[in-house]
Amino acid sequence: MAFLILIYNGVITIIFIILFIAWSFANTHQATGSIIYGFGAIEPAEVRWLFSLLLALILFACVALHELGHSYIALKHGIGIKSITLYFFGGVAAMEDIPRNPGLELKMAFAGPAVSGILGLAFWLAGTQISSYLGLSHPLSIIFTNLGLMNFILMAFNLLPAFPMDGGRLLRAWFAFGMPYVKATRRASDIGKIFATLMFLLGLATLNFMLLFVAFFVYVGASEEEKATEISISLEGIMVQDIMSTRVESVSPDMTLEELKELMFRDKHRGYPVMEGEKLQGIVTIADLQKVAPERRAGTRVGEVMARELYLIGPEDEAATAMKTMNELQIRRLPVMDGGGLVGILSREDLVRAIELCRERVH
Ligand code: ZN
Repeated sequence: MAFLILIYNGVITIIFIILFIAWSFANTHQATGSIIYGFGAIEPAEVRWLFSLLLALILFACVALHELGHSYIALKHGIGIKSITLYFFGGVAAMEDIPRNPGLELKMAFAGPAVSGILGLAFWLAGTQISSYLGLSHPLSIIFTNLGLMNFILMAFNLLPAFPMDGGRLLRAWFAFGMPYVKATRRASDIGKIFATLMFLLGLATLNFMLLFVAFFVYVGASEEEKATEISISLEGIMVQDIMSTRVESVSPDMTLEELKELMFRDKHRGYPVMEGEKLQGIVTIADLQKVAPERRAGTRVGEVMARELYLIGPEDEAATAMKTMNELQIRRLPVMDGGGLVGILSREDLVRAIELCRERVH
């Protein structure tokens, strides 16, 4: 089967993938018993391509419906959906919070494959009906039976017992009925990794690159899920003010970079808020310093190189939220503001320390 698992973001990738699927269906012809796979034998070429394109578009809609299946259950239970990342075979809806409720997670993980299964069955039944009137090799018979088949494959693939597939989530929810959530995640992720390793070996033995790719995808997915769950549970209930640095030293925008460098050497800090009187003007870090050549540092002032765009958090925000913000924005420290005044700085190091100290809760 000429299929790849691709992650698609953005319109151009989606168009590319739809064309790729259309191309592979237009160039495939396999007849096995009661099904003809692909439109390769359909003449003329316009009809062949029209049906291939149509199939690719409908298949895309089926993947979206699979995701909406998950989202529907989530929304019904009051969990917000921030974004849906579509993977070629299934997808991942980024929920605002991971539901730490095994019953709900079970339902949510099951909803997607269930949608694919129902679609598969409907297309397949329609396909067999149409074939009995028009014959197996009619393009209408082919499009329906092929869509049925593809939806069944979509369902089966997503039920693989490995993160980030739905099957991994089902497995975790199942374990979580009888043990703490992190332990359940770790167990499910271990099974995913064993699974990935077996797939990898099989892929090597048969030189099947698609299998190697899936194995890699599953292995990375399992590790990431485990890490993300550990972090969010370690930081649960911890507020920014519990772990931020309160003895905030600030610098003035008029300080030269030469002076800043000496200060960083002495204090071993990697960044400072830049204050003018009581007002926070920006943040300056080692990275900003390094952008200026050493010989120009004596003549350059902090105010010229600091980051002015500030992302602020409050002392009573959750540490996990701060972590998410830093990861999304790729920044290392956040000023903590309370009622217009700077009360602290939260750095990535503070978060890492907190995660390490609290890790014992998850073991
Ligand atoms: Zn799914």
